[in-house]
Amino acid sequence: MQPVSNPQERPIIVVGGGFAGLSTLLTLSRVHPRPPLVLIEPKAQFVFVPLLYELLSGELQAWEVAPDYAPLIQGHGISHIRDIVTSVNVEDHSITTAGGDHLVYSQLVLATGAVPDDFGIPGVRDHALGFHSLRDLAPLQERLRQLRLRPSGTSSVVIVGAGATGVELACKLVDLLEGAAQVHLVDQGDQILARSRAFNREQAERALKRRGINVHLKTRVLSVKPDSVRWNGIEGDVEQAHDGLIWTAGSKPNIPDLHPSAELHQKRLPVDQTLRLQGQPDVLALGDIATHARKDEGQTPWPLSAQAAIQQGQAAARTLEAHLKGGTPSPFIFQDLGEMLSLGISDATITGMGMTLAGPLAFKIRRLAYLTRLPGLSLGLRSAGAWLVGS
Ligand SMILES: Cc1cc2nc3c(=O)[nH]c(=O)nc-3n(C[C@H](O)[C@H](O)[C@H](O)COP(=O)(O)OP(=O)(O)OC[C@H]3O[C@@H](n4cnc5c(N)ncnc54)[C@H](O)[C@@H]3O)c2cc1C
Repeated sequence: MQPVSNPQERPIIVVGGGFAGLSTLLTLSRVHPRPPLVLIEPKAQFVFVPLLYELLSGELQAWEVAPDYAPLIQGHGISHIRDIVTSVNVEDHSITTAGGDHLVYSQLVLATGAVPDDFGIPGVRDHALGFHSLRDLAPLQERLRQLRLRPSGTSSVVIVGAGATGVELACKLVDLLEGAAQVHLVDQGDQILARSRAFNREQAERALKRRGINVHLKTRVLSVKPDSVRWNGIEGDVEQAHDGLIWTAGSKPNIPDLHPSAELHQKRLPVDQTLRLQGQPDVLALGDIATHARKDEGQTPWPLSAQAAIQQGQAAARTLEAHLKGGTPSPFIFQDLGEMLSLGISDATITGMGMTLAGPLAFKIRRLAYLTRLPGLSLGLRSAGAWLVGS
């Protein structure tokens, strides 16, 4: 795409087609008259990240959890450029991509999400498996396959991080390993699921106990080797052998280079209540890379979740529509719809939407919720959502 000189013809460019970016575009595509819309996203498939566990276990198939963008955006007037944005010049409203393109925008939406953070702990980058994206699945599935071939009880798998990802993964792995390995869950905090609702935490504690998972709290990982991990906990320094270590202990925002650079808050891009980057009227930032809250002023940050990202995408579209039509954008207010966790095969727990529920029904409701909360997606994904009616 060539730079466009007439500002009226410049597109709204959305960088990153995750929950926040895709939600922005699908909502904006309903605005009349529809502005030119461009998505820059390297991947060919949108990934329902909260359903990665079901893809790992084979409960769902790749085409269900990671549908192609093409049918999702078809008919919405969105051009998809498969590339990575490497830098943004907010002064001349341009972006540069890894593929060497130089594009000019009228309004820019940054929604590039987060990437795992190893906090510089030695060995994590080289020896830990990840569980963050589609490409993490194949190495993990291969490791599980190898472990299942070994005599029962002779192997150990360590999961670092007892937040939602670590806890959900631990339950799923035990169900998949069927006794082939002992699973250890390690966290430096004094409880699992530090940010979760009490009901969900209780359900998760029971699920971990039922599966015989060794939970090591107040335990800090010091270094990781290919076949062992050193941590410091209640028992002092321990060297634990492992046959696979999965790192879920942290993530950091994945912000492209901005010129001039933006002052970060809590490592994130600070935005106002209409999701505009502070001091930059033509740039919005959403999802895992953005924050509006000043903890030092007692404000509560928006959660870093798919739920918040989808809502922010819808709000960003309203801000942009107001801009196009000369109106006043309304502030974004996060609606907490609750929390859902998967806890092993065909099991989940839900707090929210007026209910507390655990078990197989919660599992089905959780899957349904991810499809129906993304605007336009439930229709665009009619075929991908086939499992909804079949289950
Ligand atoms: C394993 C796992 C399980 C989770 N489970 C839940 C859950 O159950 N419930 C929940 O609410 N949340 C869950 N989350 C968190 C949730 O997935 C994130 O908060 C949410 O995806 C954030 O949305 P986003 O749009 O900001 O970023 P993402 O969804 O991460 O999307 C970012 C997109 O930007 C693209 N991108 C990155 N850099 C560039 C670039 N430079 N140029 C162009 N494109 C770029 C990426 O390819 C990606 O597609 C989970 C996360 C993980 C990792």
